Amino acid sequence: MTEHDLAILGASVVDGSGAPAKRAEIYISGDRIAAVRPPGTREPAREIVEADGLVLAPGFIDVHTHDDMALIKTPLMPSKVSQGVTTVITGLCGYSPAPLPPGTKLPEEYDILIPERGKIFERFSGYLDAVAQAAPAVNSLALVGHSTLRIAAMTELSRPATPDEVASMQRLLDKALEDGAAGLSSGLAYAMAKASETDELVALCERLASRAAPYVTHIRDEGDYLVEAVDEALTIGRRAGVPVIFSHHKALGQHNHGKTRETLAMIDAACGCQTVGLDVYPYSYSSTSLTVERARRGGKIVVTRSATMPECVGLTVDAISERLGCDPEEAVRRLQPAGALYHLMDEDEVRRVLIHPLAMIGSDGLPFDPMPHPRLWGTFPRVLGHYVRDQGLLSLESAIHKMTGLPARMFRLEGRGVVEPGAFADLVLFDPDRIADRASPSSPDNAAEGVARVWINGRSPGAGTGRRLTSSPA
Ligand SMILES: [Zn+2]
Repeated sequence: MTEHDLAILGASVVDGSGAPAKRAEIYISGDRIAAVRPPGTREPAREIVEADGLVLAPGFIDVHTHDDMALIKTPLMPSKVSQGVTTVITGLCGYSPAPLPPGTKLPEEYDILIPERGKIFERFSGYLDAVAQAAPAVNSLALVGHSTLRIAAMTELSRPATPDEVASMQRLLDKALEDGAAGLSSGLAYAMAKASETDELVALCERLASRAAPYVTHIRDEGDYLVEAVDEALTIGRRAGVPVIFSHHKALGQHNHGKTRETLAMIDAACGCQTVGLDVYPYSYSSTSLTVERARRGGKIVVTRSATMPECVGLTVDAISERLGCDPEEAVRRLQPAGALYHLMDEDEVRRVLIHPLAMIGSDGLPFDPMPHPRLWGTFPRVLGHYVRDQGLLSLESAIHKMTGLPARMFRLEGRGVVEPGAFADLVLFDPDRIADRASPSSPDNAAEGVARVWINGRSPGAGTGRRLTSSPA
């Protein structure tokens, strides 16, 4: 009998499909799962991991990240590996570091995504090559951002694109897809893309159709016009004939709480005639740049960074305005450029979205934010500890499916997201009684507890264990 590289014995295996956990022996050879055997089989292996009392699952796929440059700057990716994440999807919310003509001046909003202003890539392949050269520990799949295409093709972002500009964005998108981009993301709530019209997005998404590549969208409005914005995204997907994935699905603002009941029903209804997905992070507060417009929505706003007044980090906008003796809007102006946590969501809504059968887990963490939202380091253990074990909101099998098998299917990552013979050995071993997020707003980079071991393509995470992934053909 051939000797395997590794045997993991005694674990309760949750295979990523949503099927009930079962005890099994898992054998790994090279980068693959070689065999899944009943307990007590005991085939020969060079290394044996005794895993009684632990859960073995496919490595988690973080479907919503802003790790584009983190893969290059911090390739060991501790924020992700410590949670059991083995694959990250990048280029979300309309932002990607390519394609951008040399010398492009990026808007300030890019600061926390691309911390070095000059670090941009003319070709998408240039970005992917830089990632490969950095040899990250985790696998990655990259989307191209709609706002990035606008910056590359337009002279003025505050208006709809002209037909010529749409054509040049289409050409850039085609090239990026040829280079290996897996789909298009948008961030229609942001200044760079706000003025884009539905037709502009349809025209771009049509370029995705032959590859069945997804349109992943941070929709135009997540508050008062949430329903209209969901409708627009579904329309874009239908008209272009592409899958639509809703990013960080939620309803912002107290008077909008309850609206996800309606939007999830719209998504369910749409599923009959188009492919739809969504992702969610397991927190009832959000994090993004601090703007006057966002501050006007009210609610508690805690400043996480400010270039002009770093001493205000950790304080609420209300407290800062009191201290400065000005109104909150003026305080926000003086803090620029700045970032904040917004307490605008309702826990019931977060729970409702989390248990939706199409909901995948995405952290949406900002790796270069000096005070990042705790979701950067805590998302996956928080779902498994807080929501599965402590709250009993969903089963362990269902939660793991949302982190593995479901995203692997949505992004067509062949051989990932499952524990079965022949699959890639992306695996996480964790203690279901101990797994917990430890990151908080005041200690945002506390690593999670309870993750015992992680394997990426059959190896312990380290330089070069990750691979550049592509979606398999439709
Ligand atoms: Zn977003």
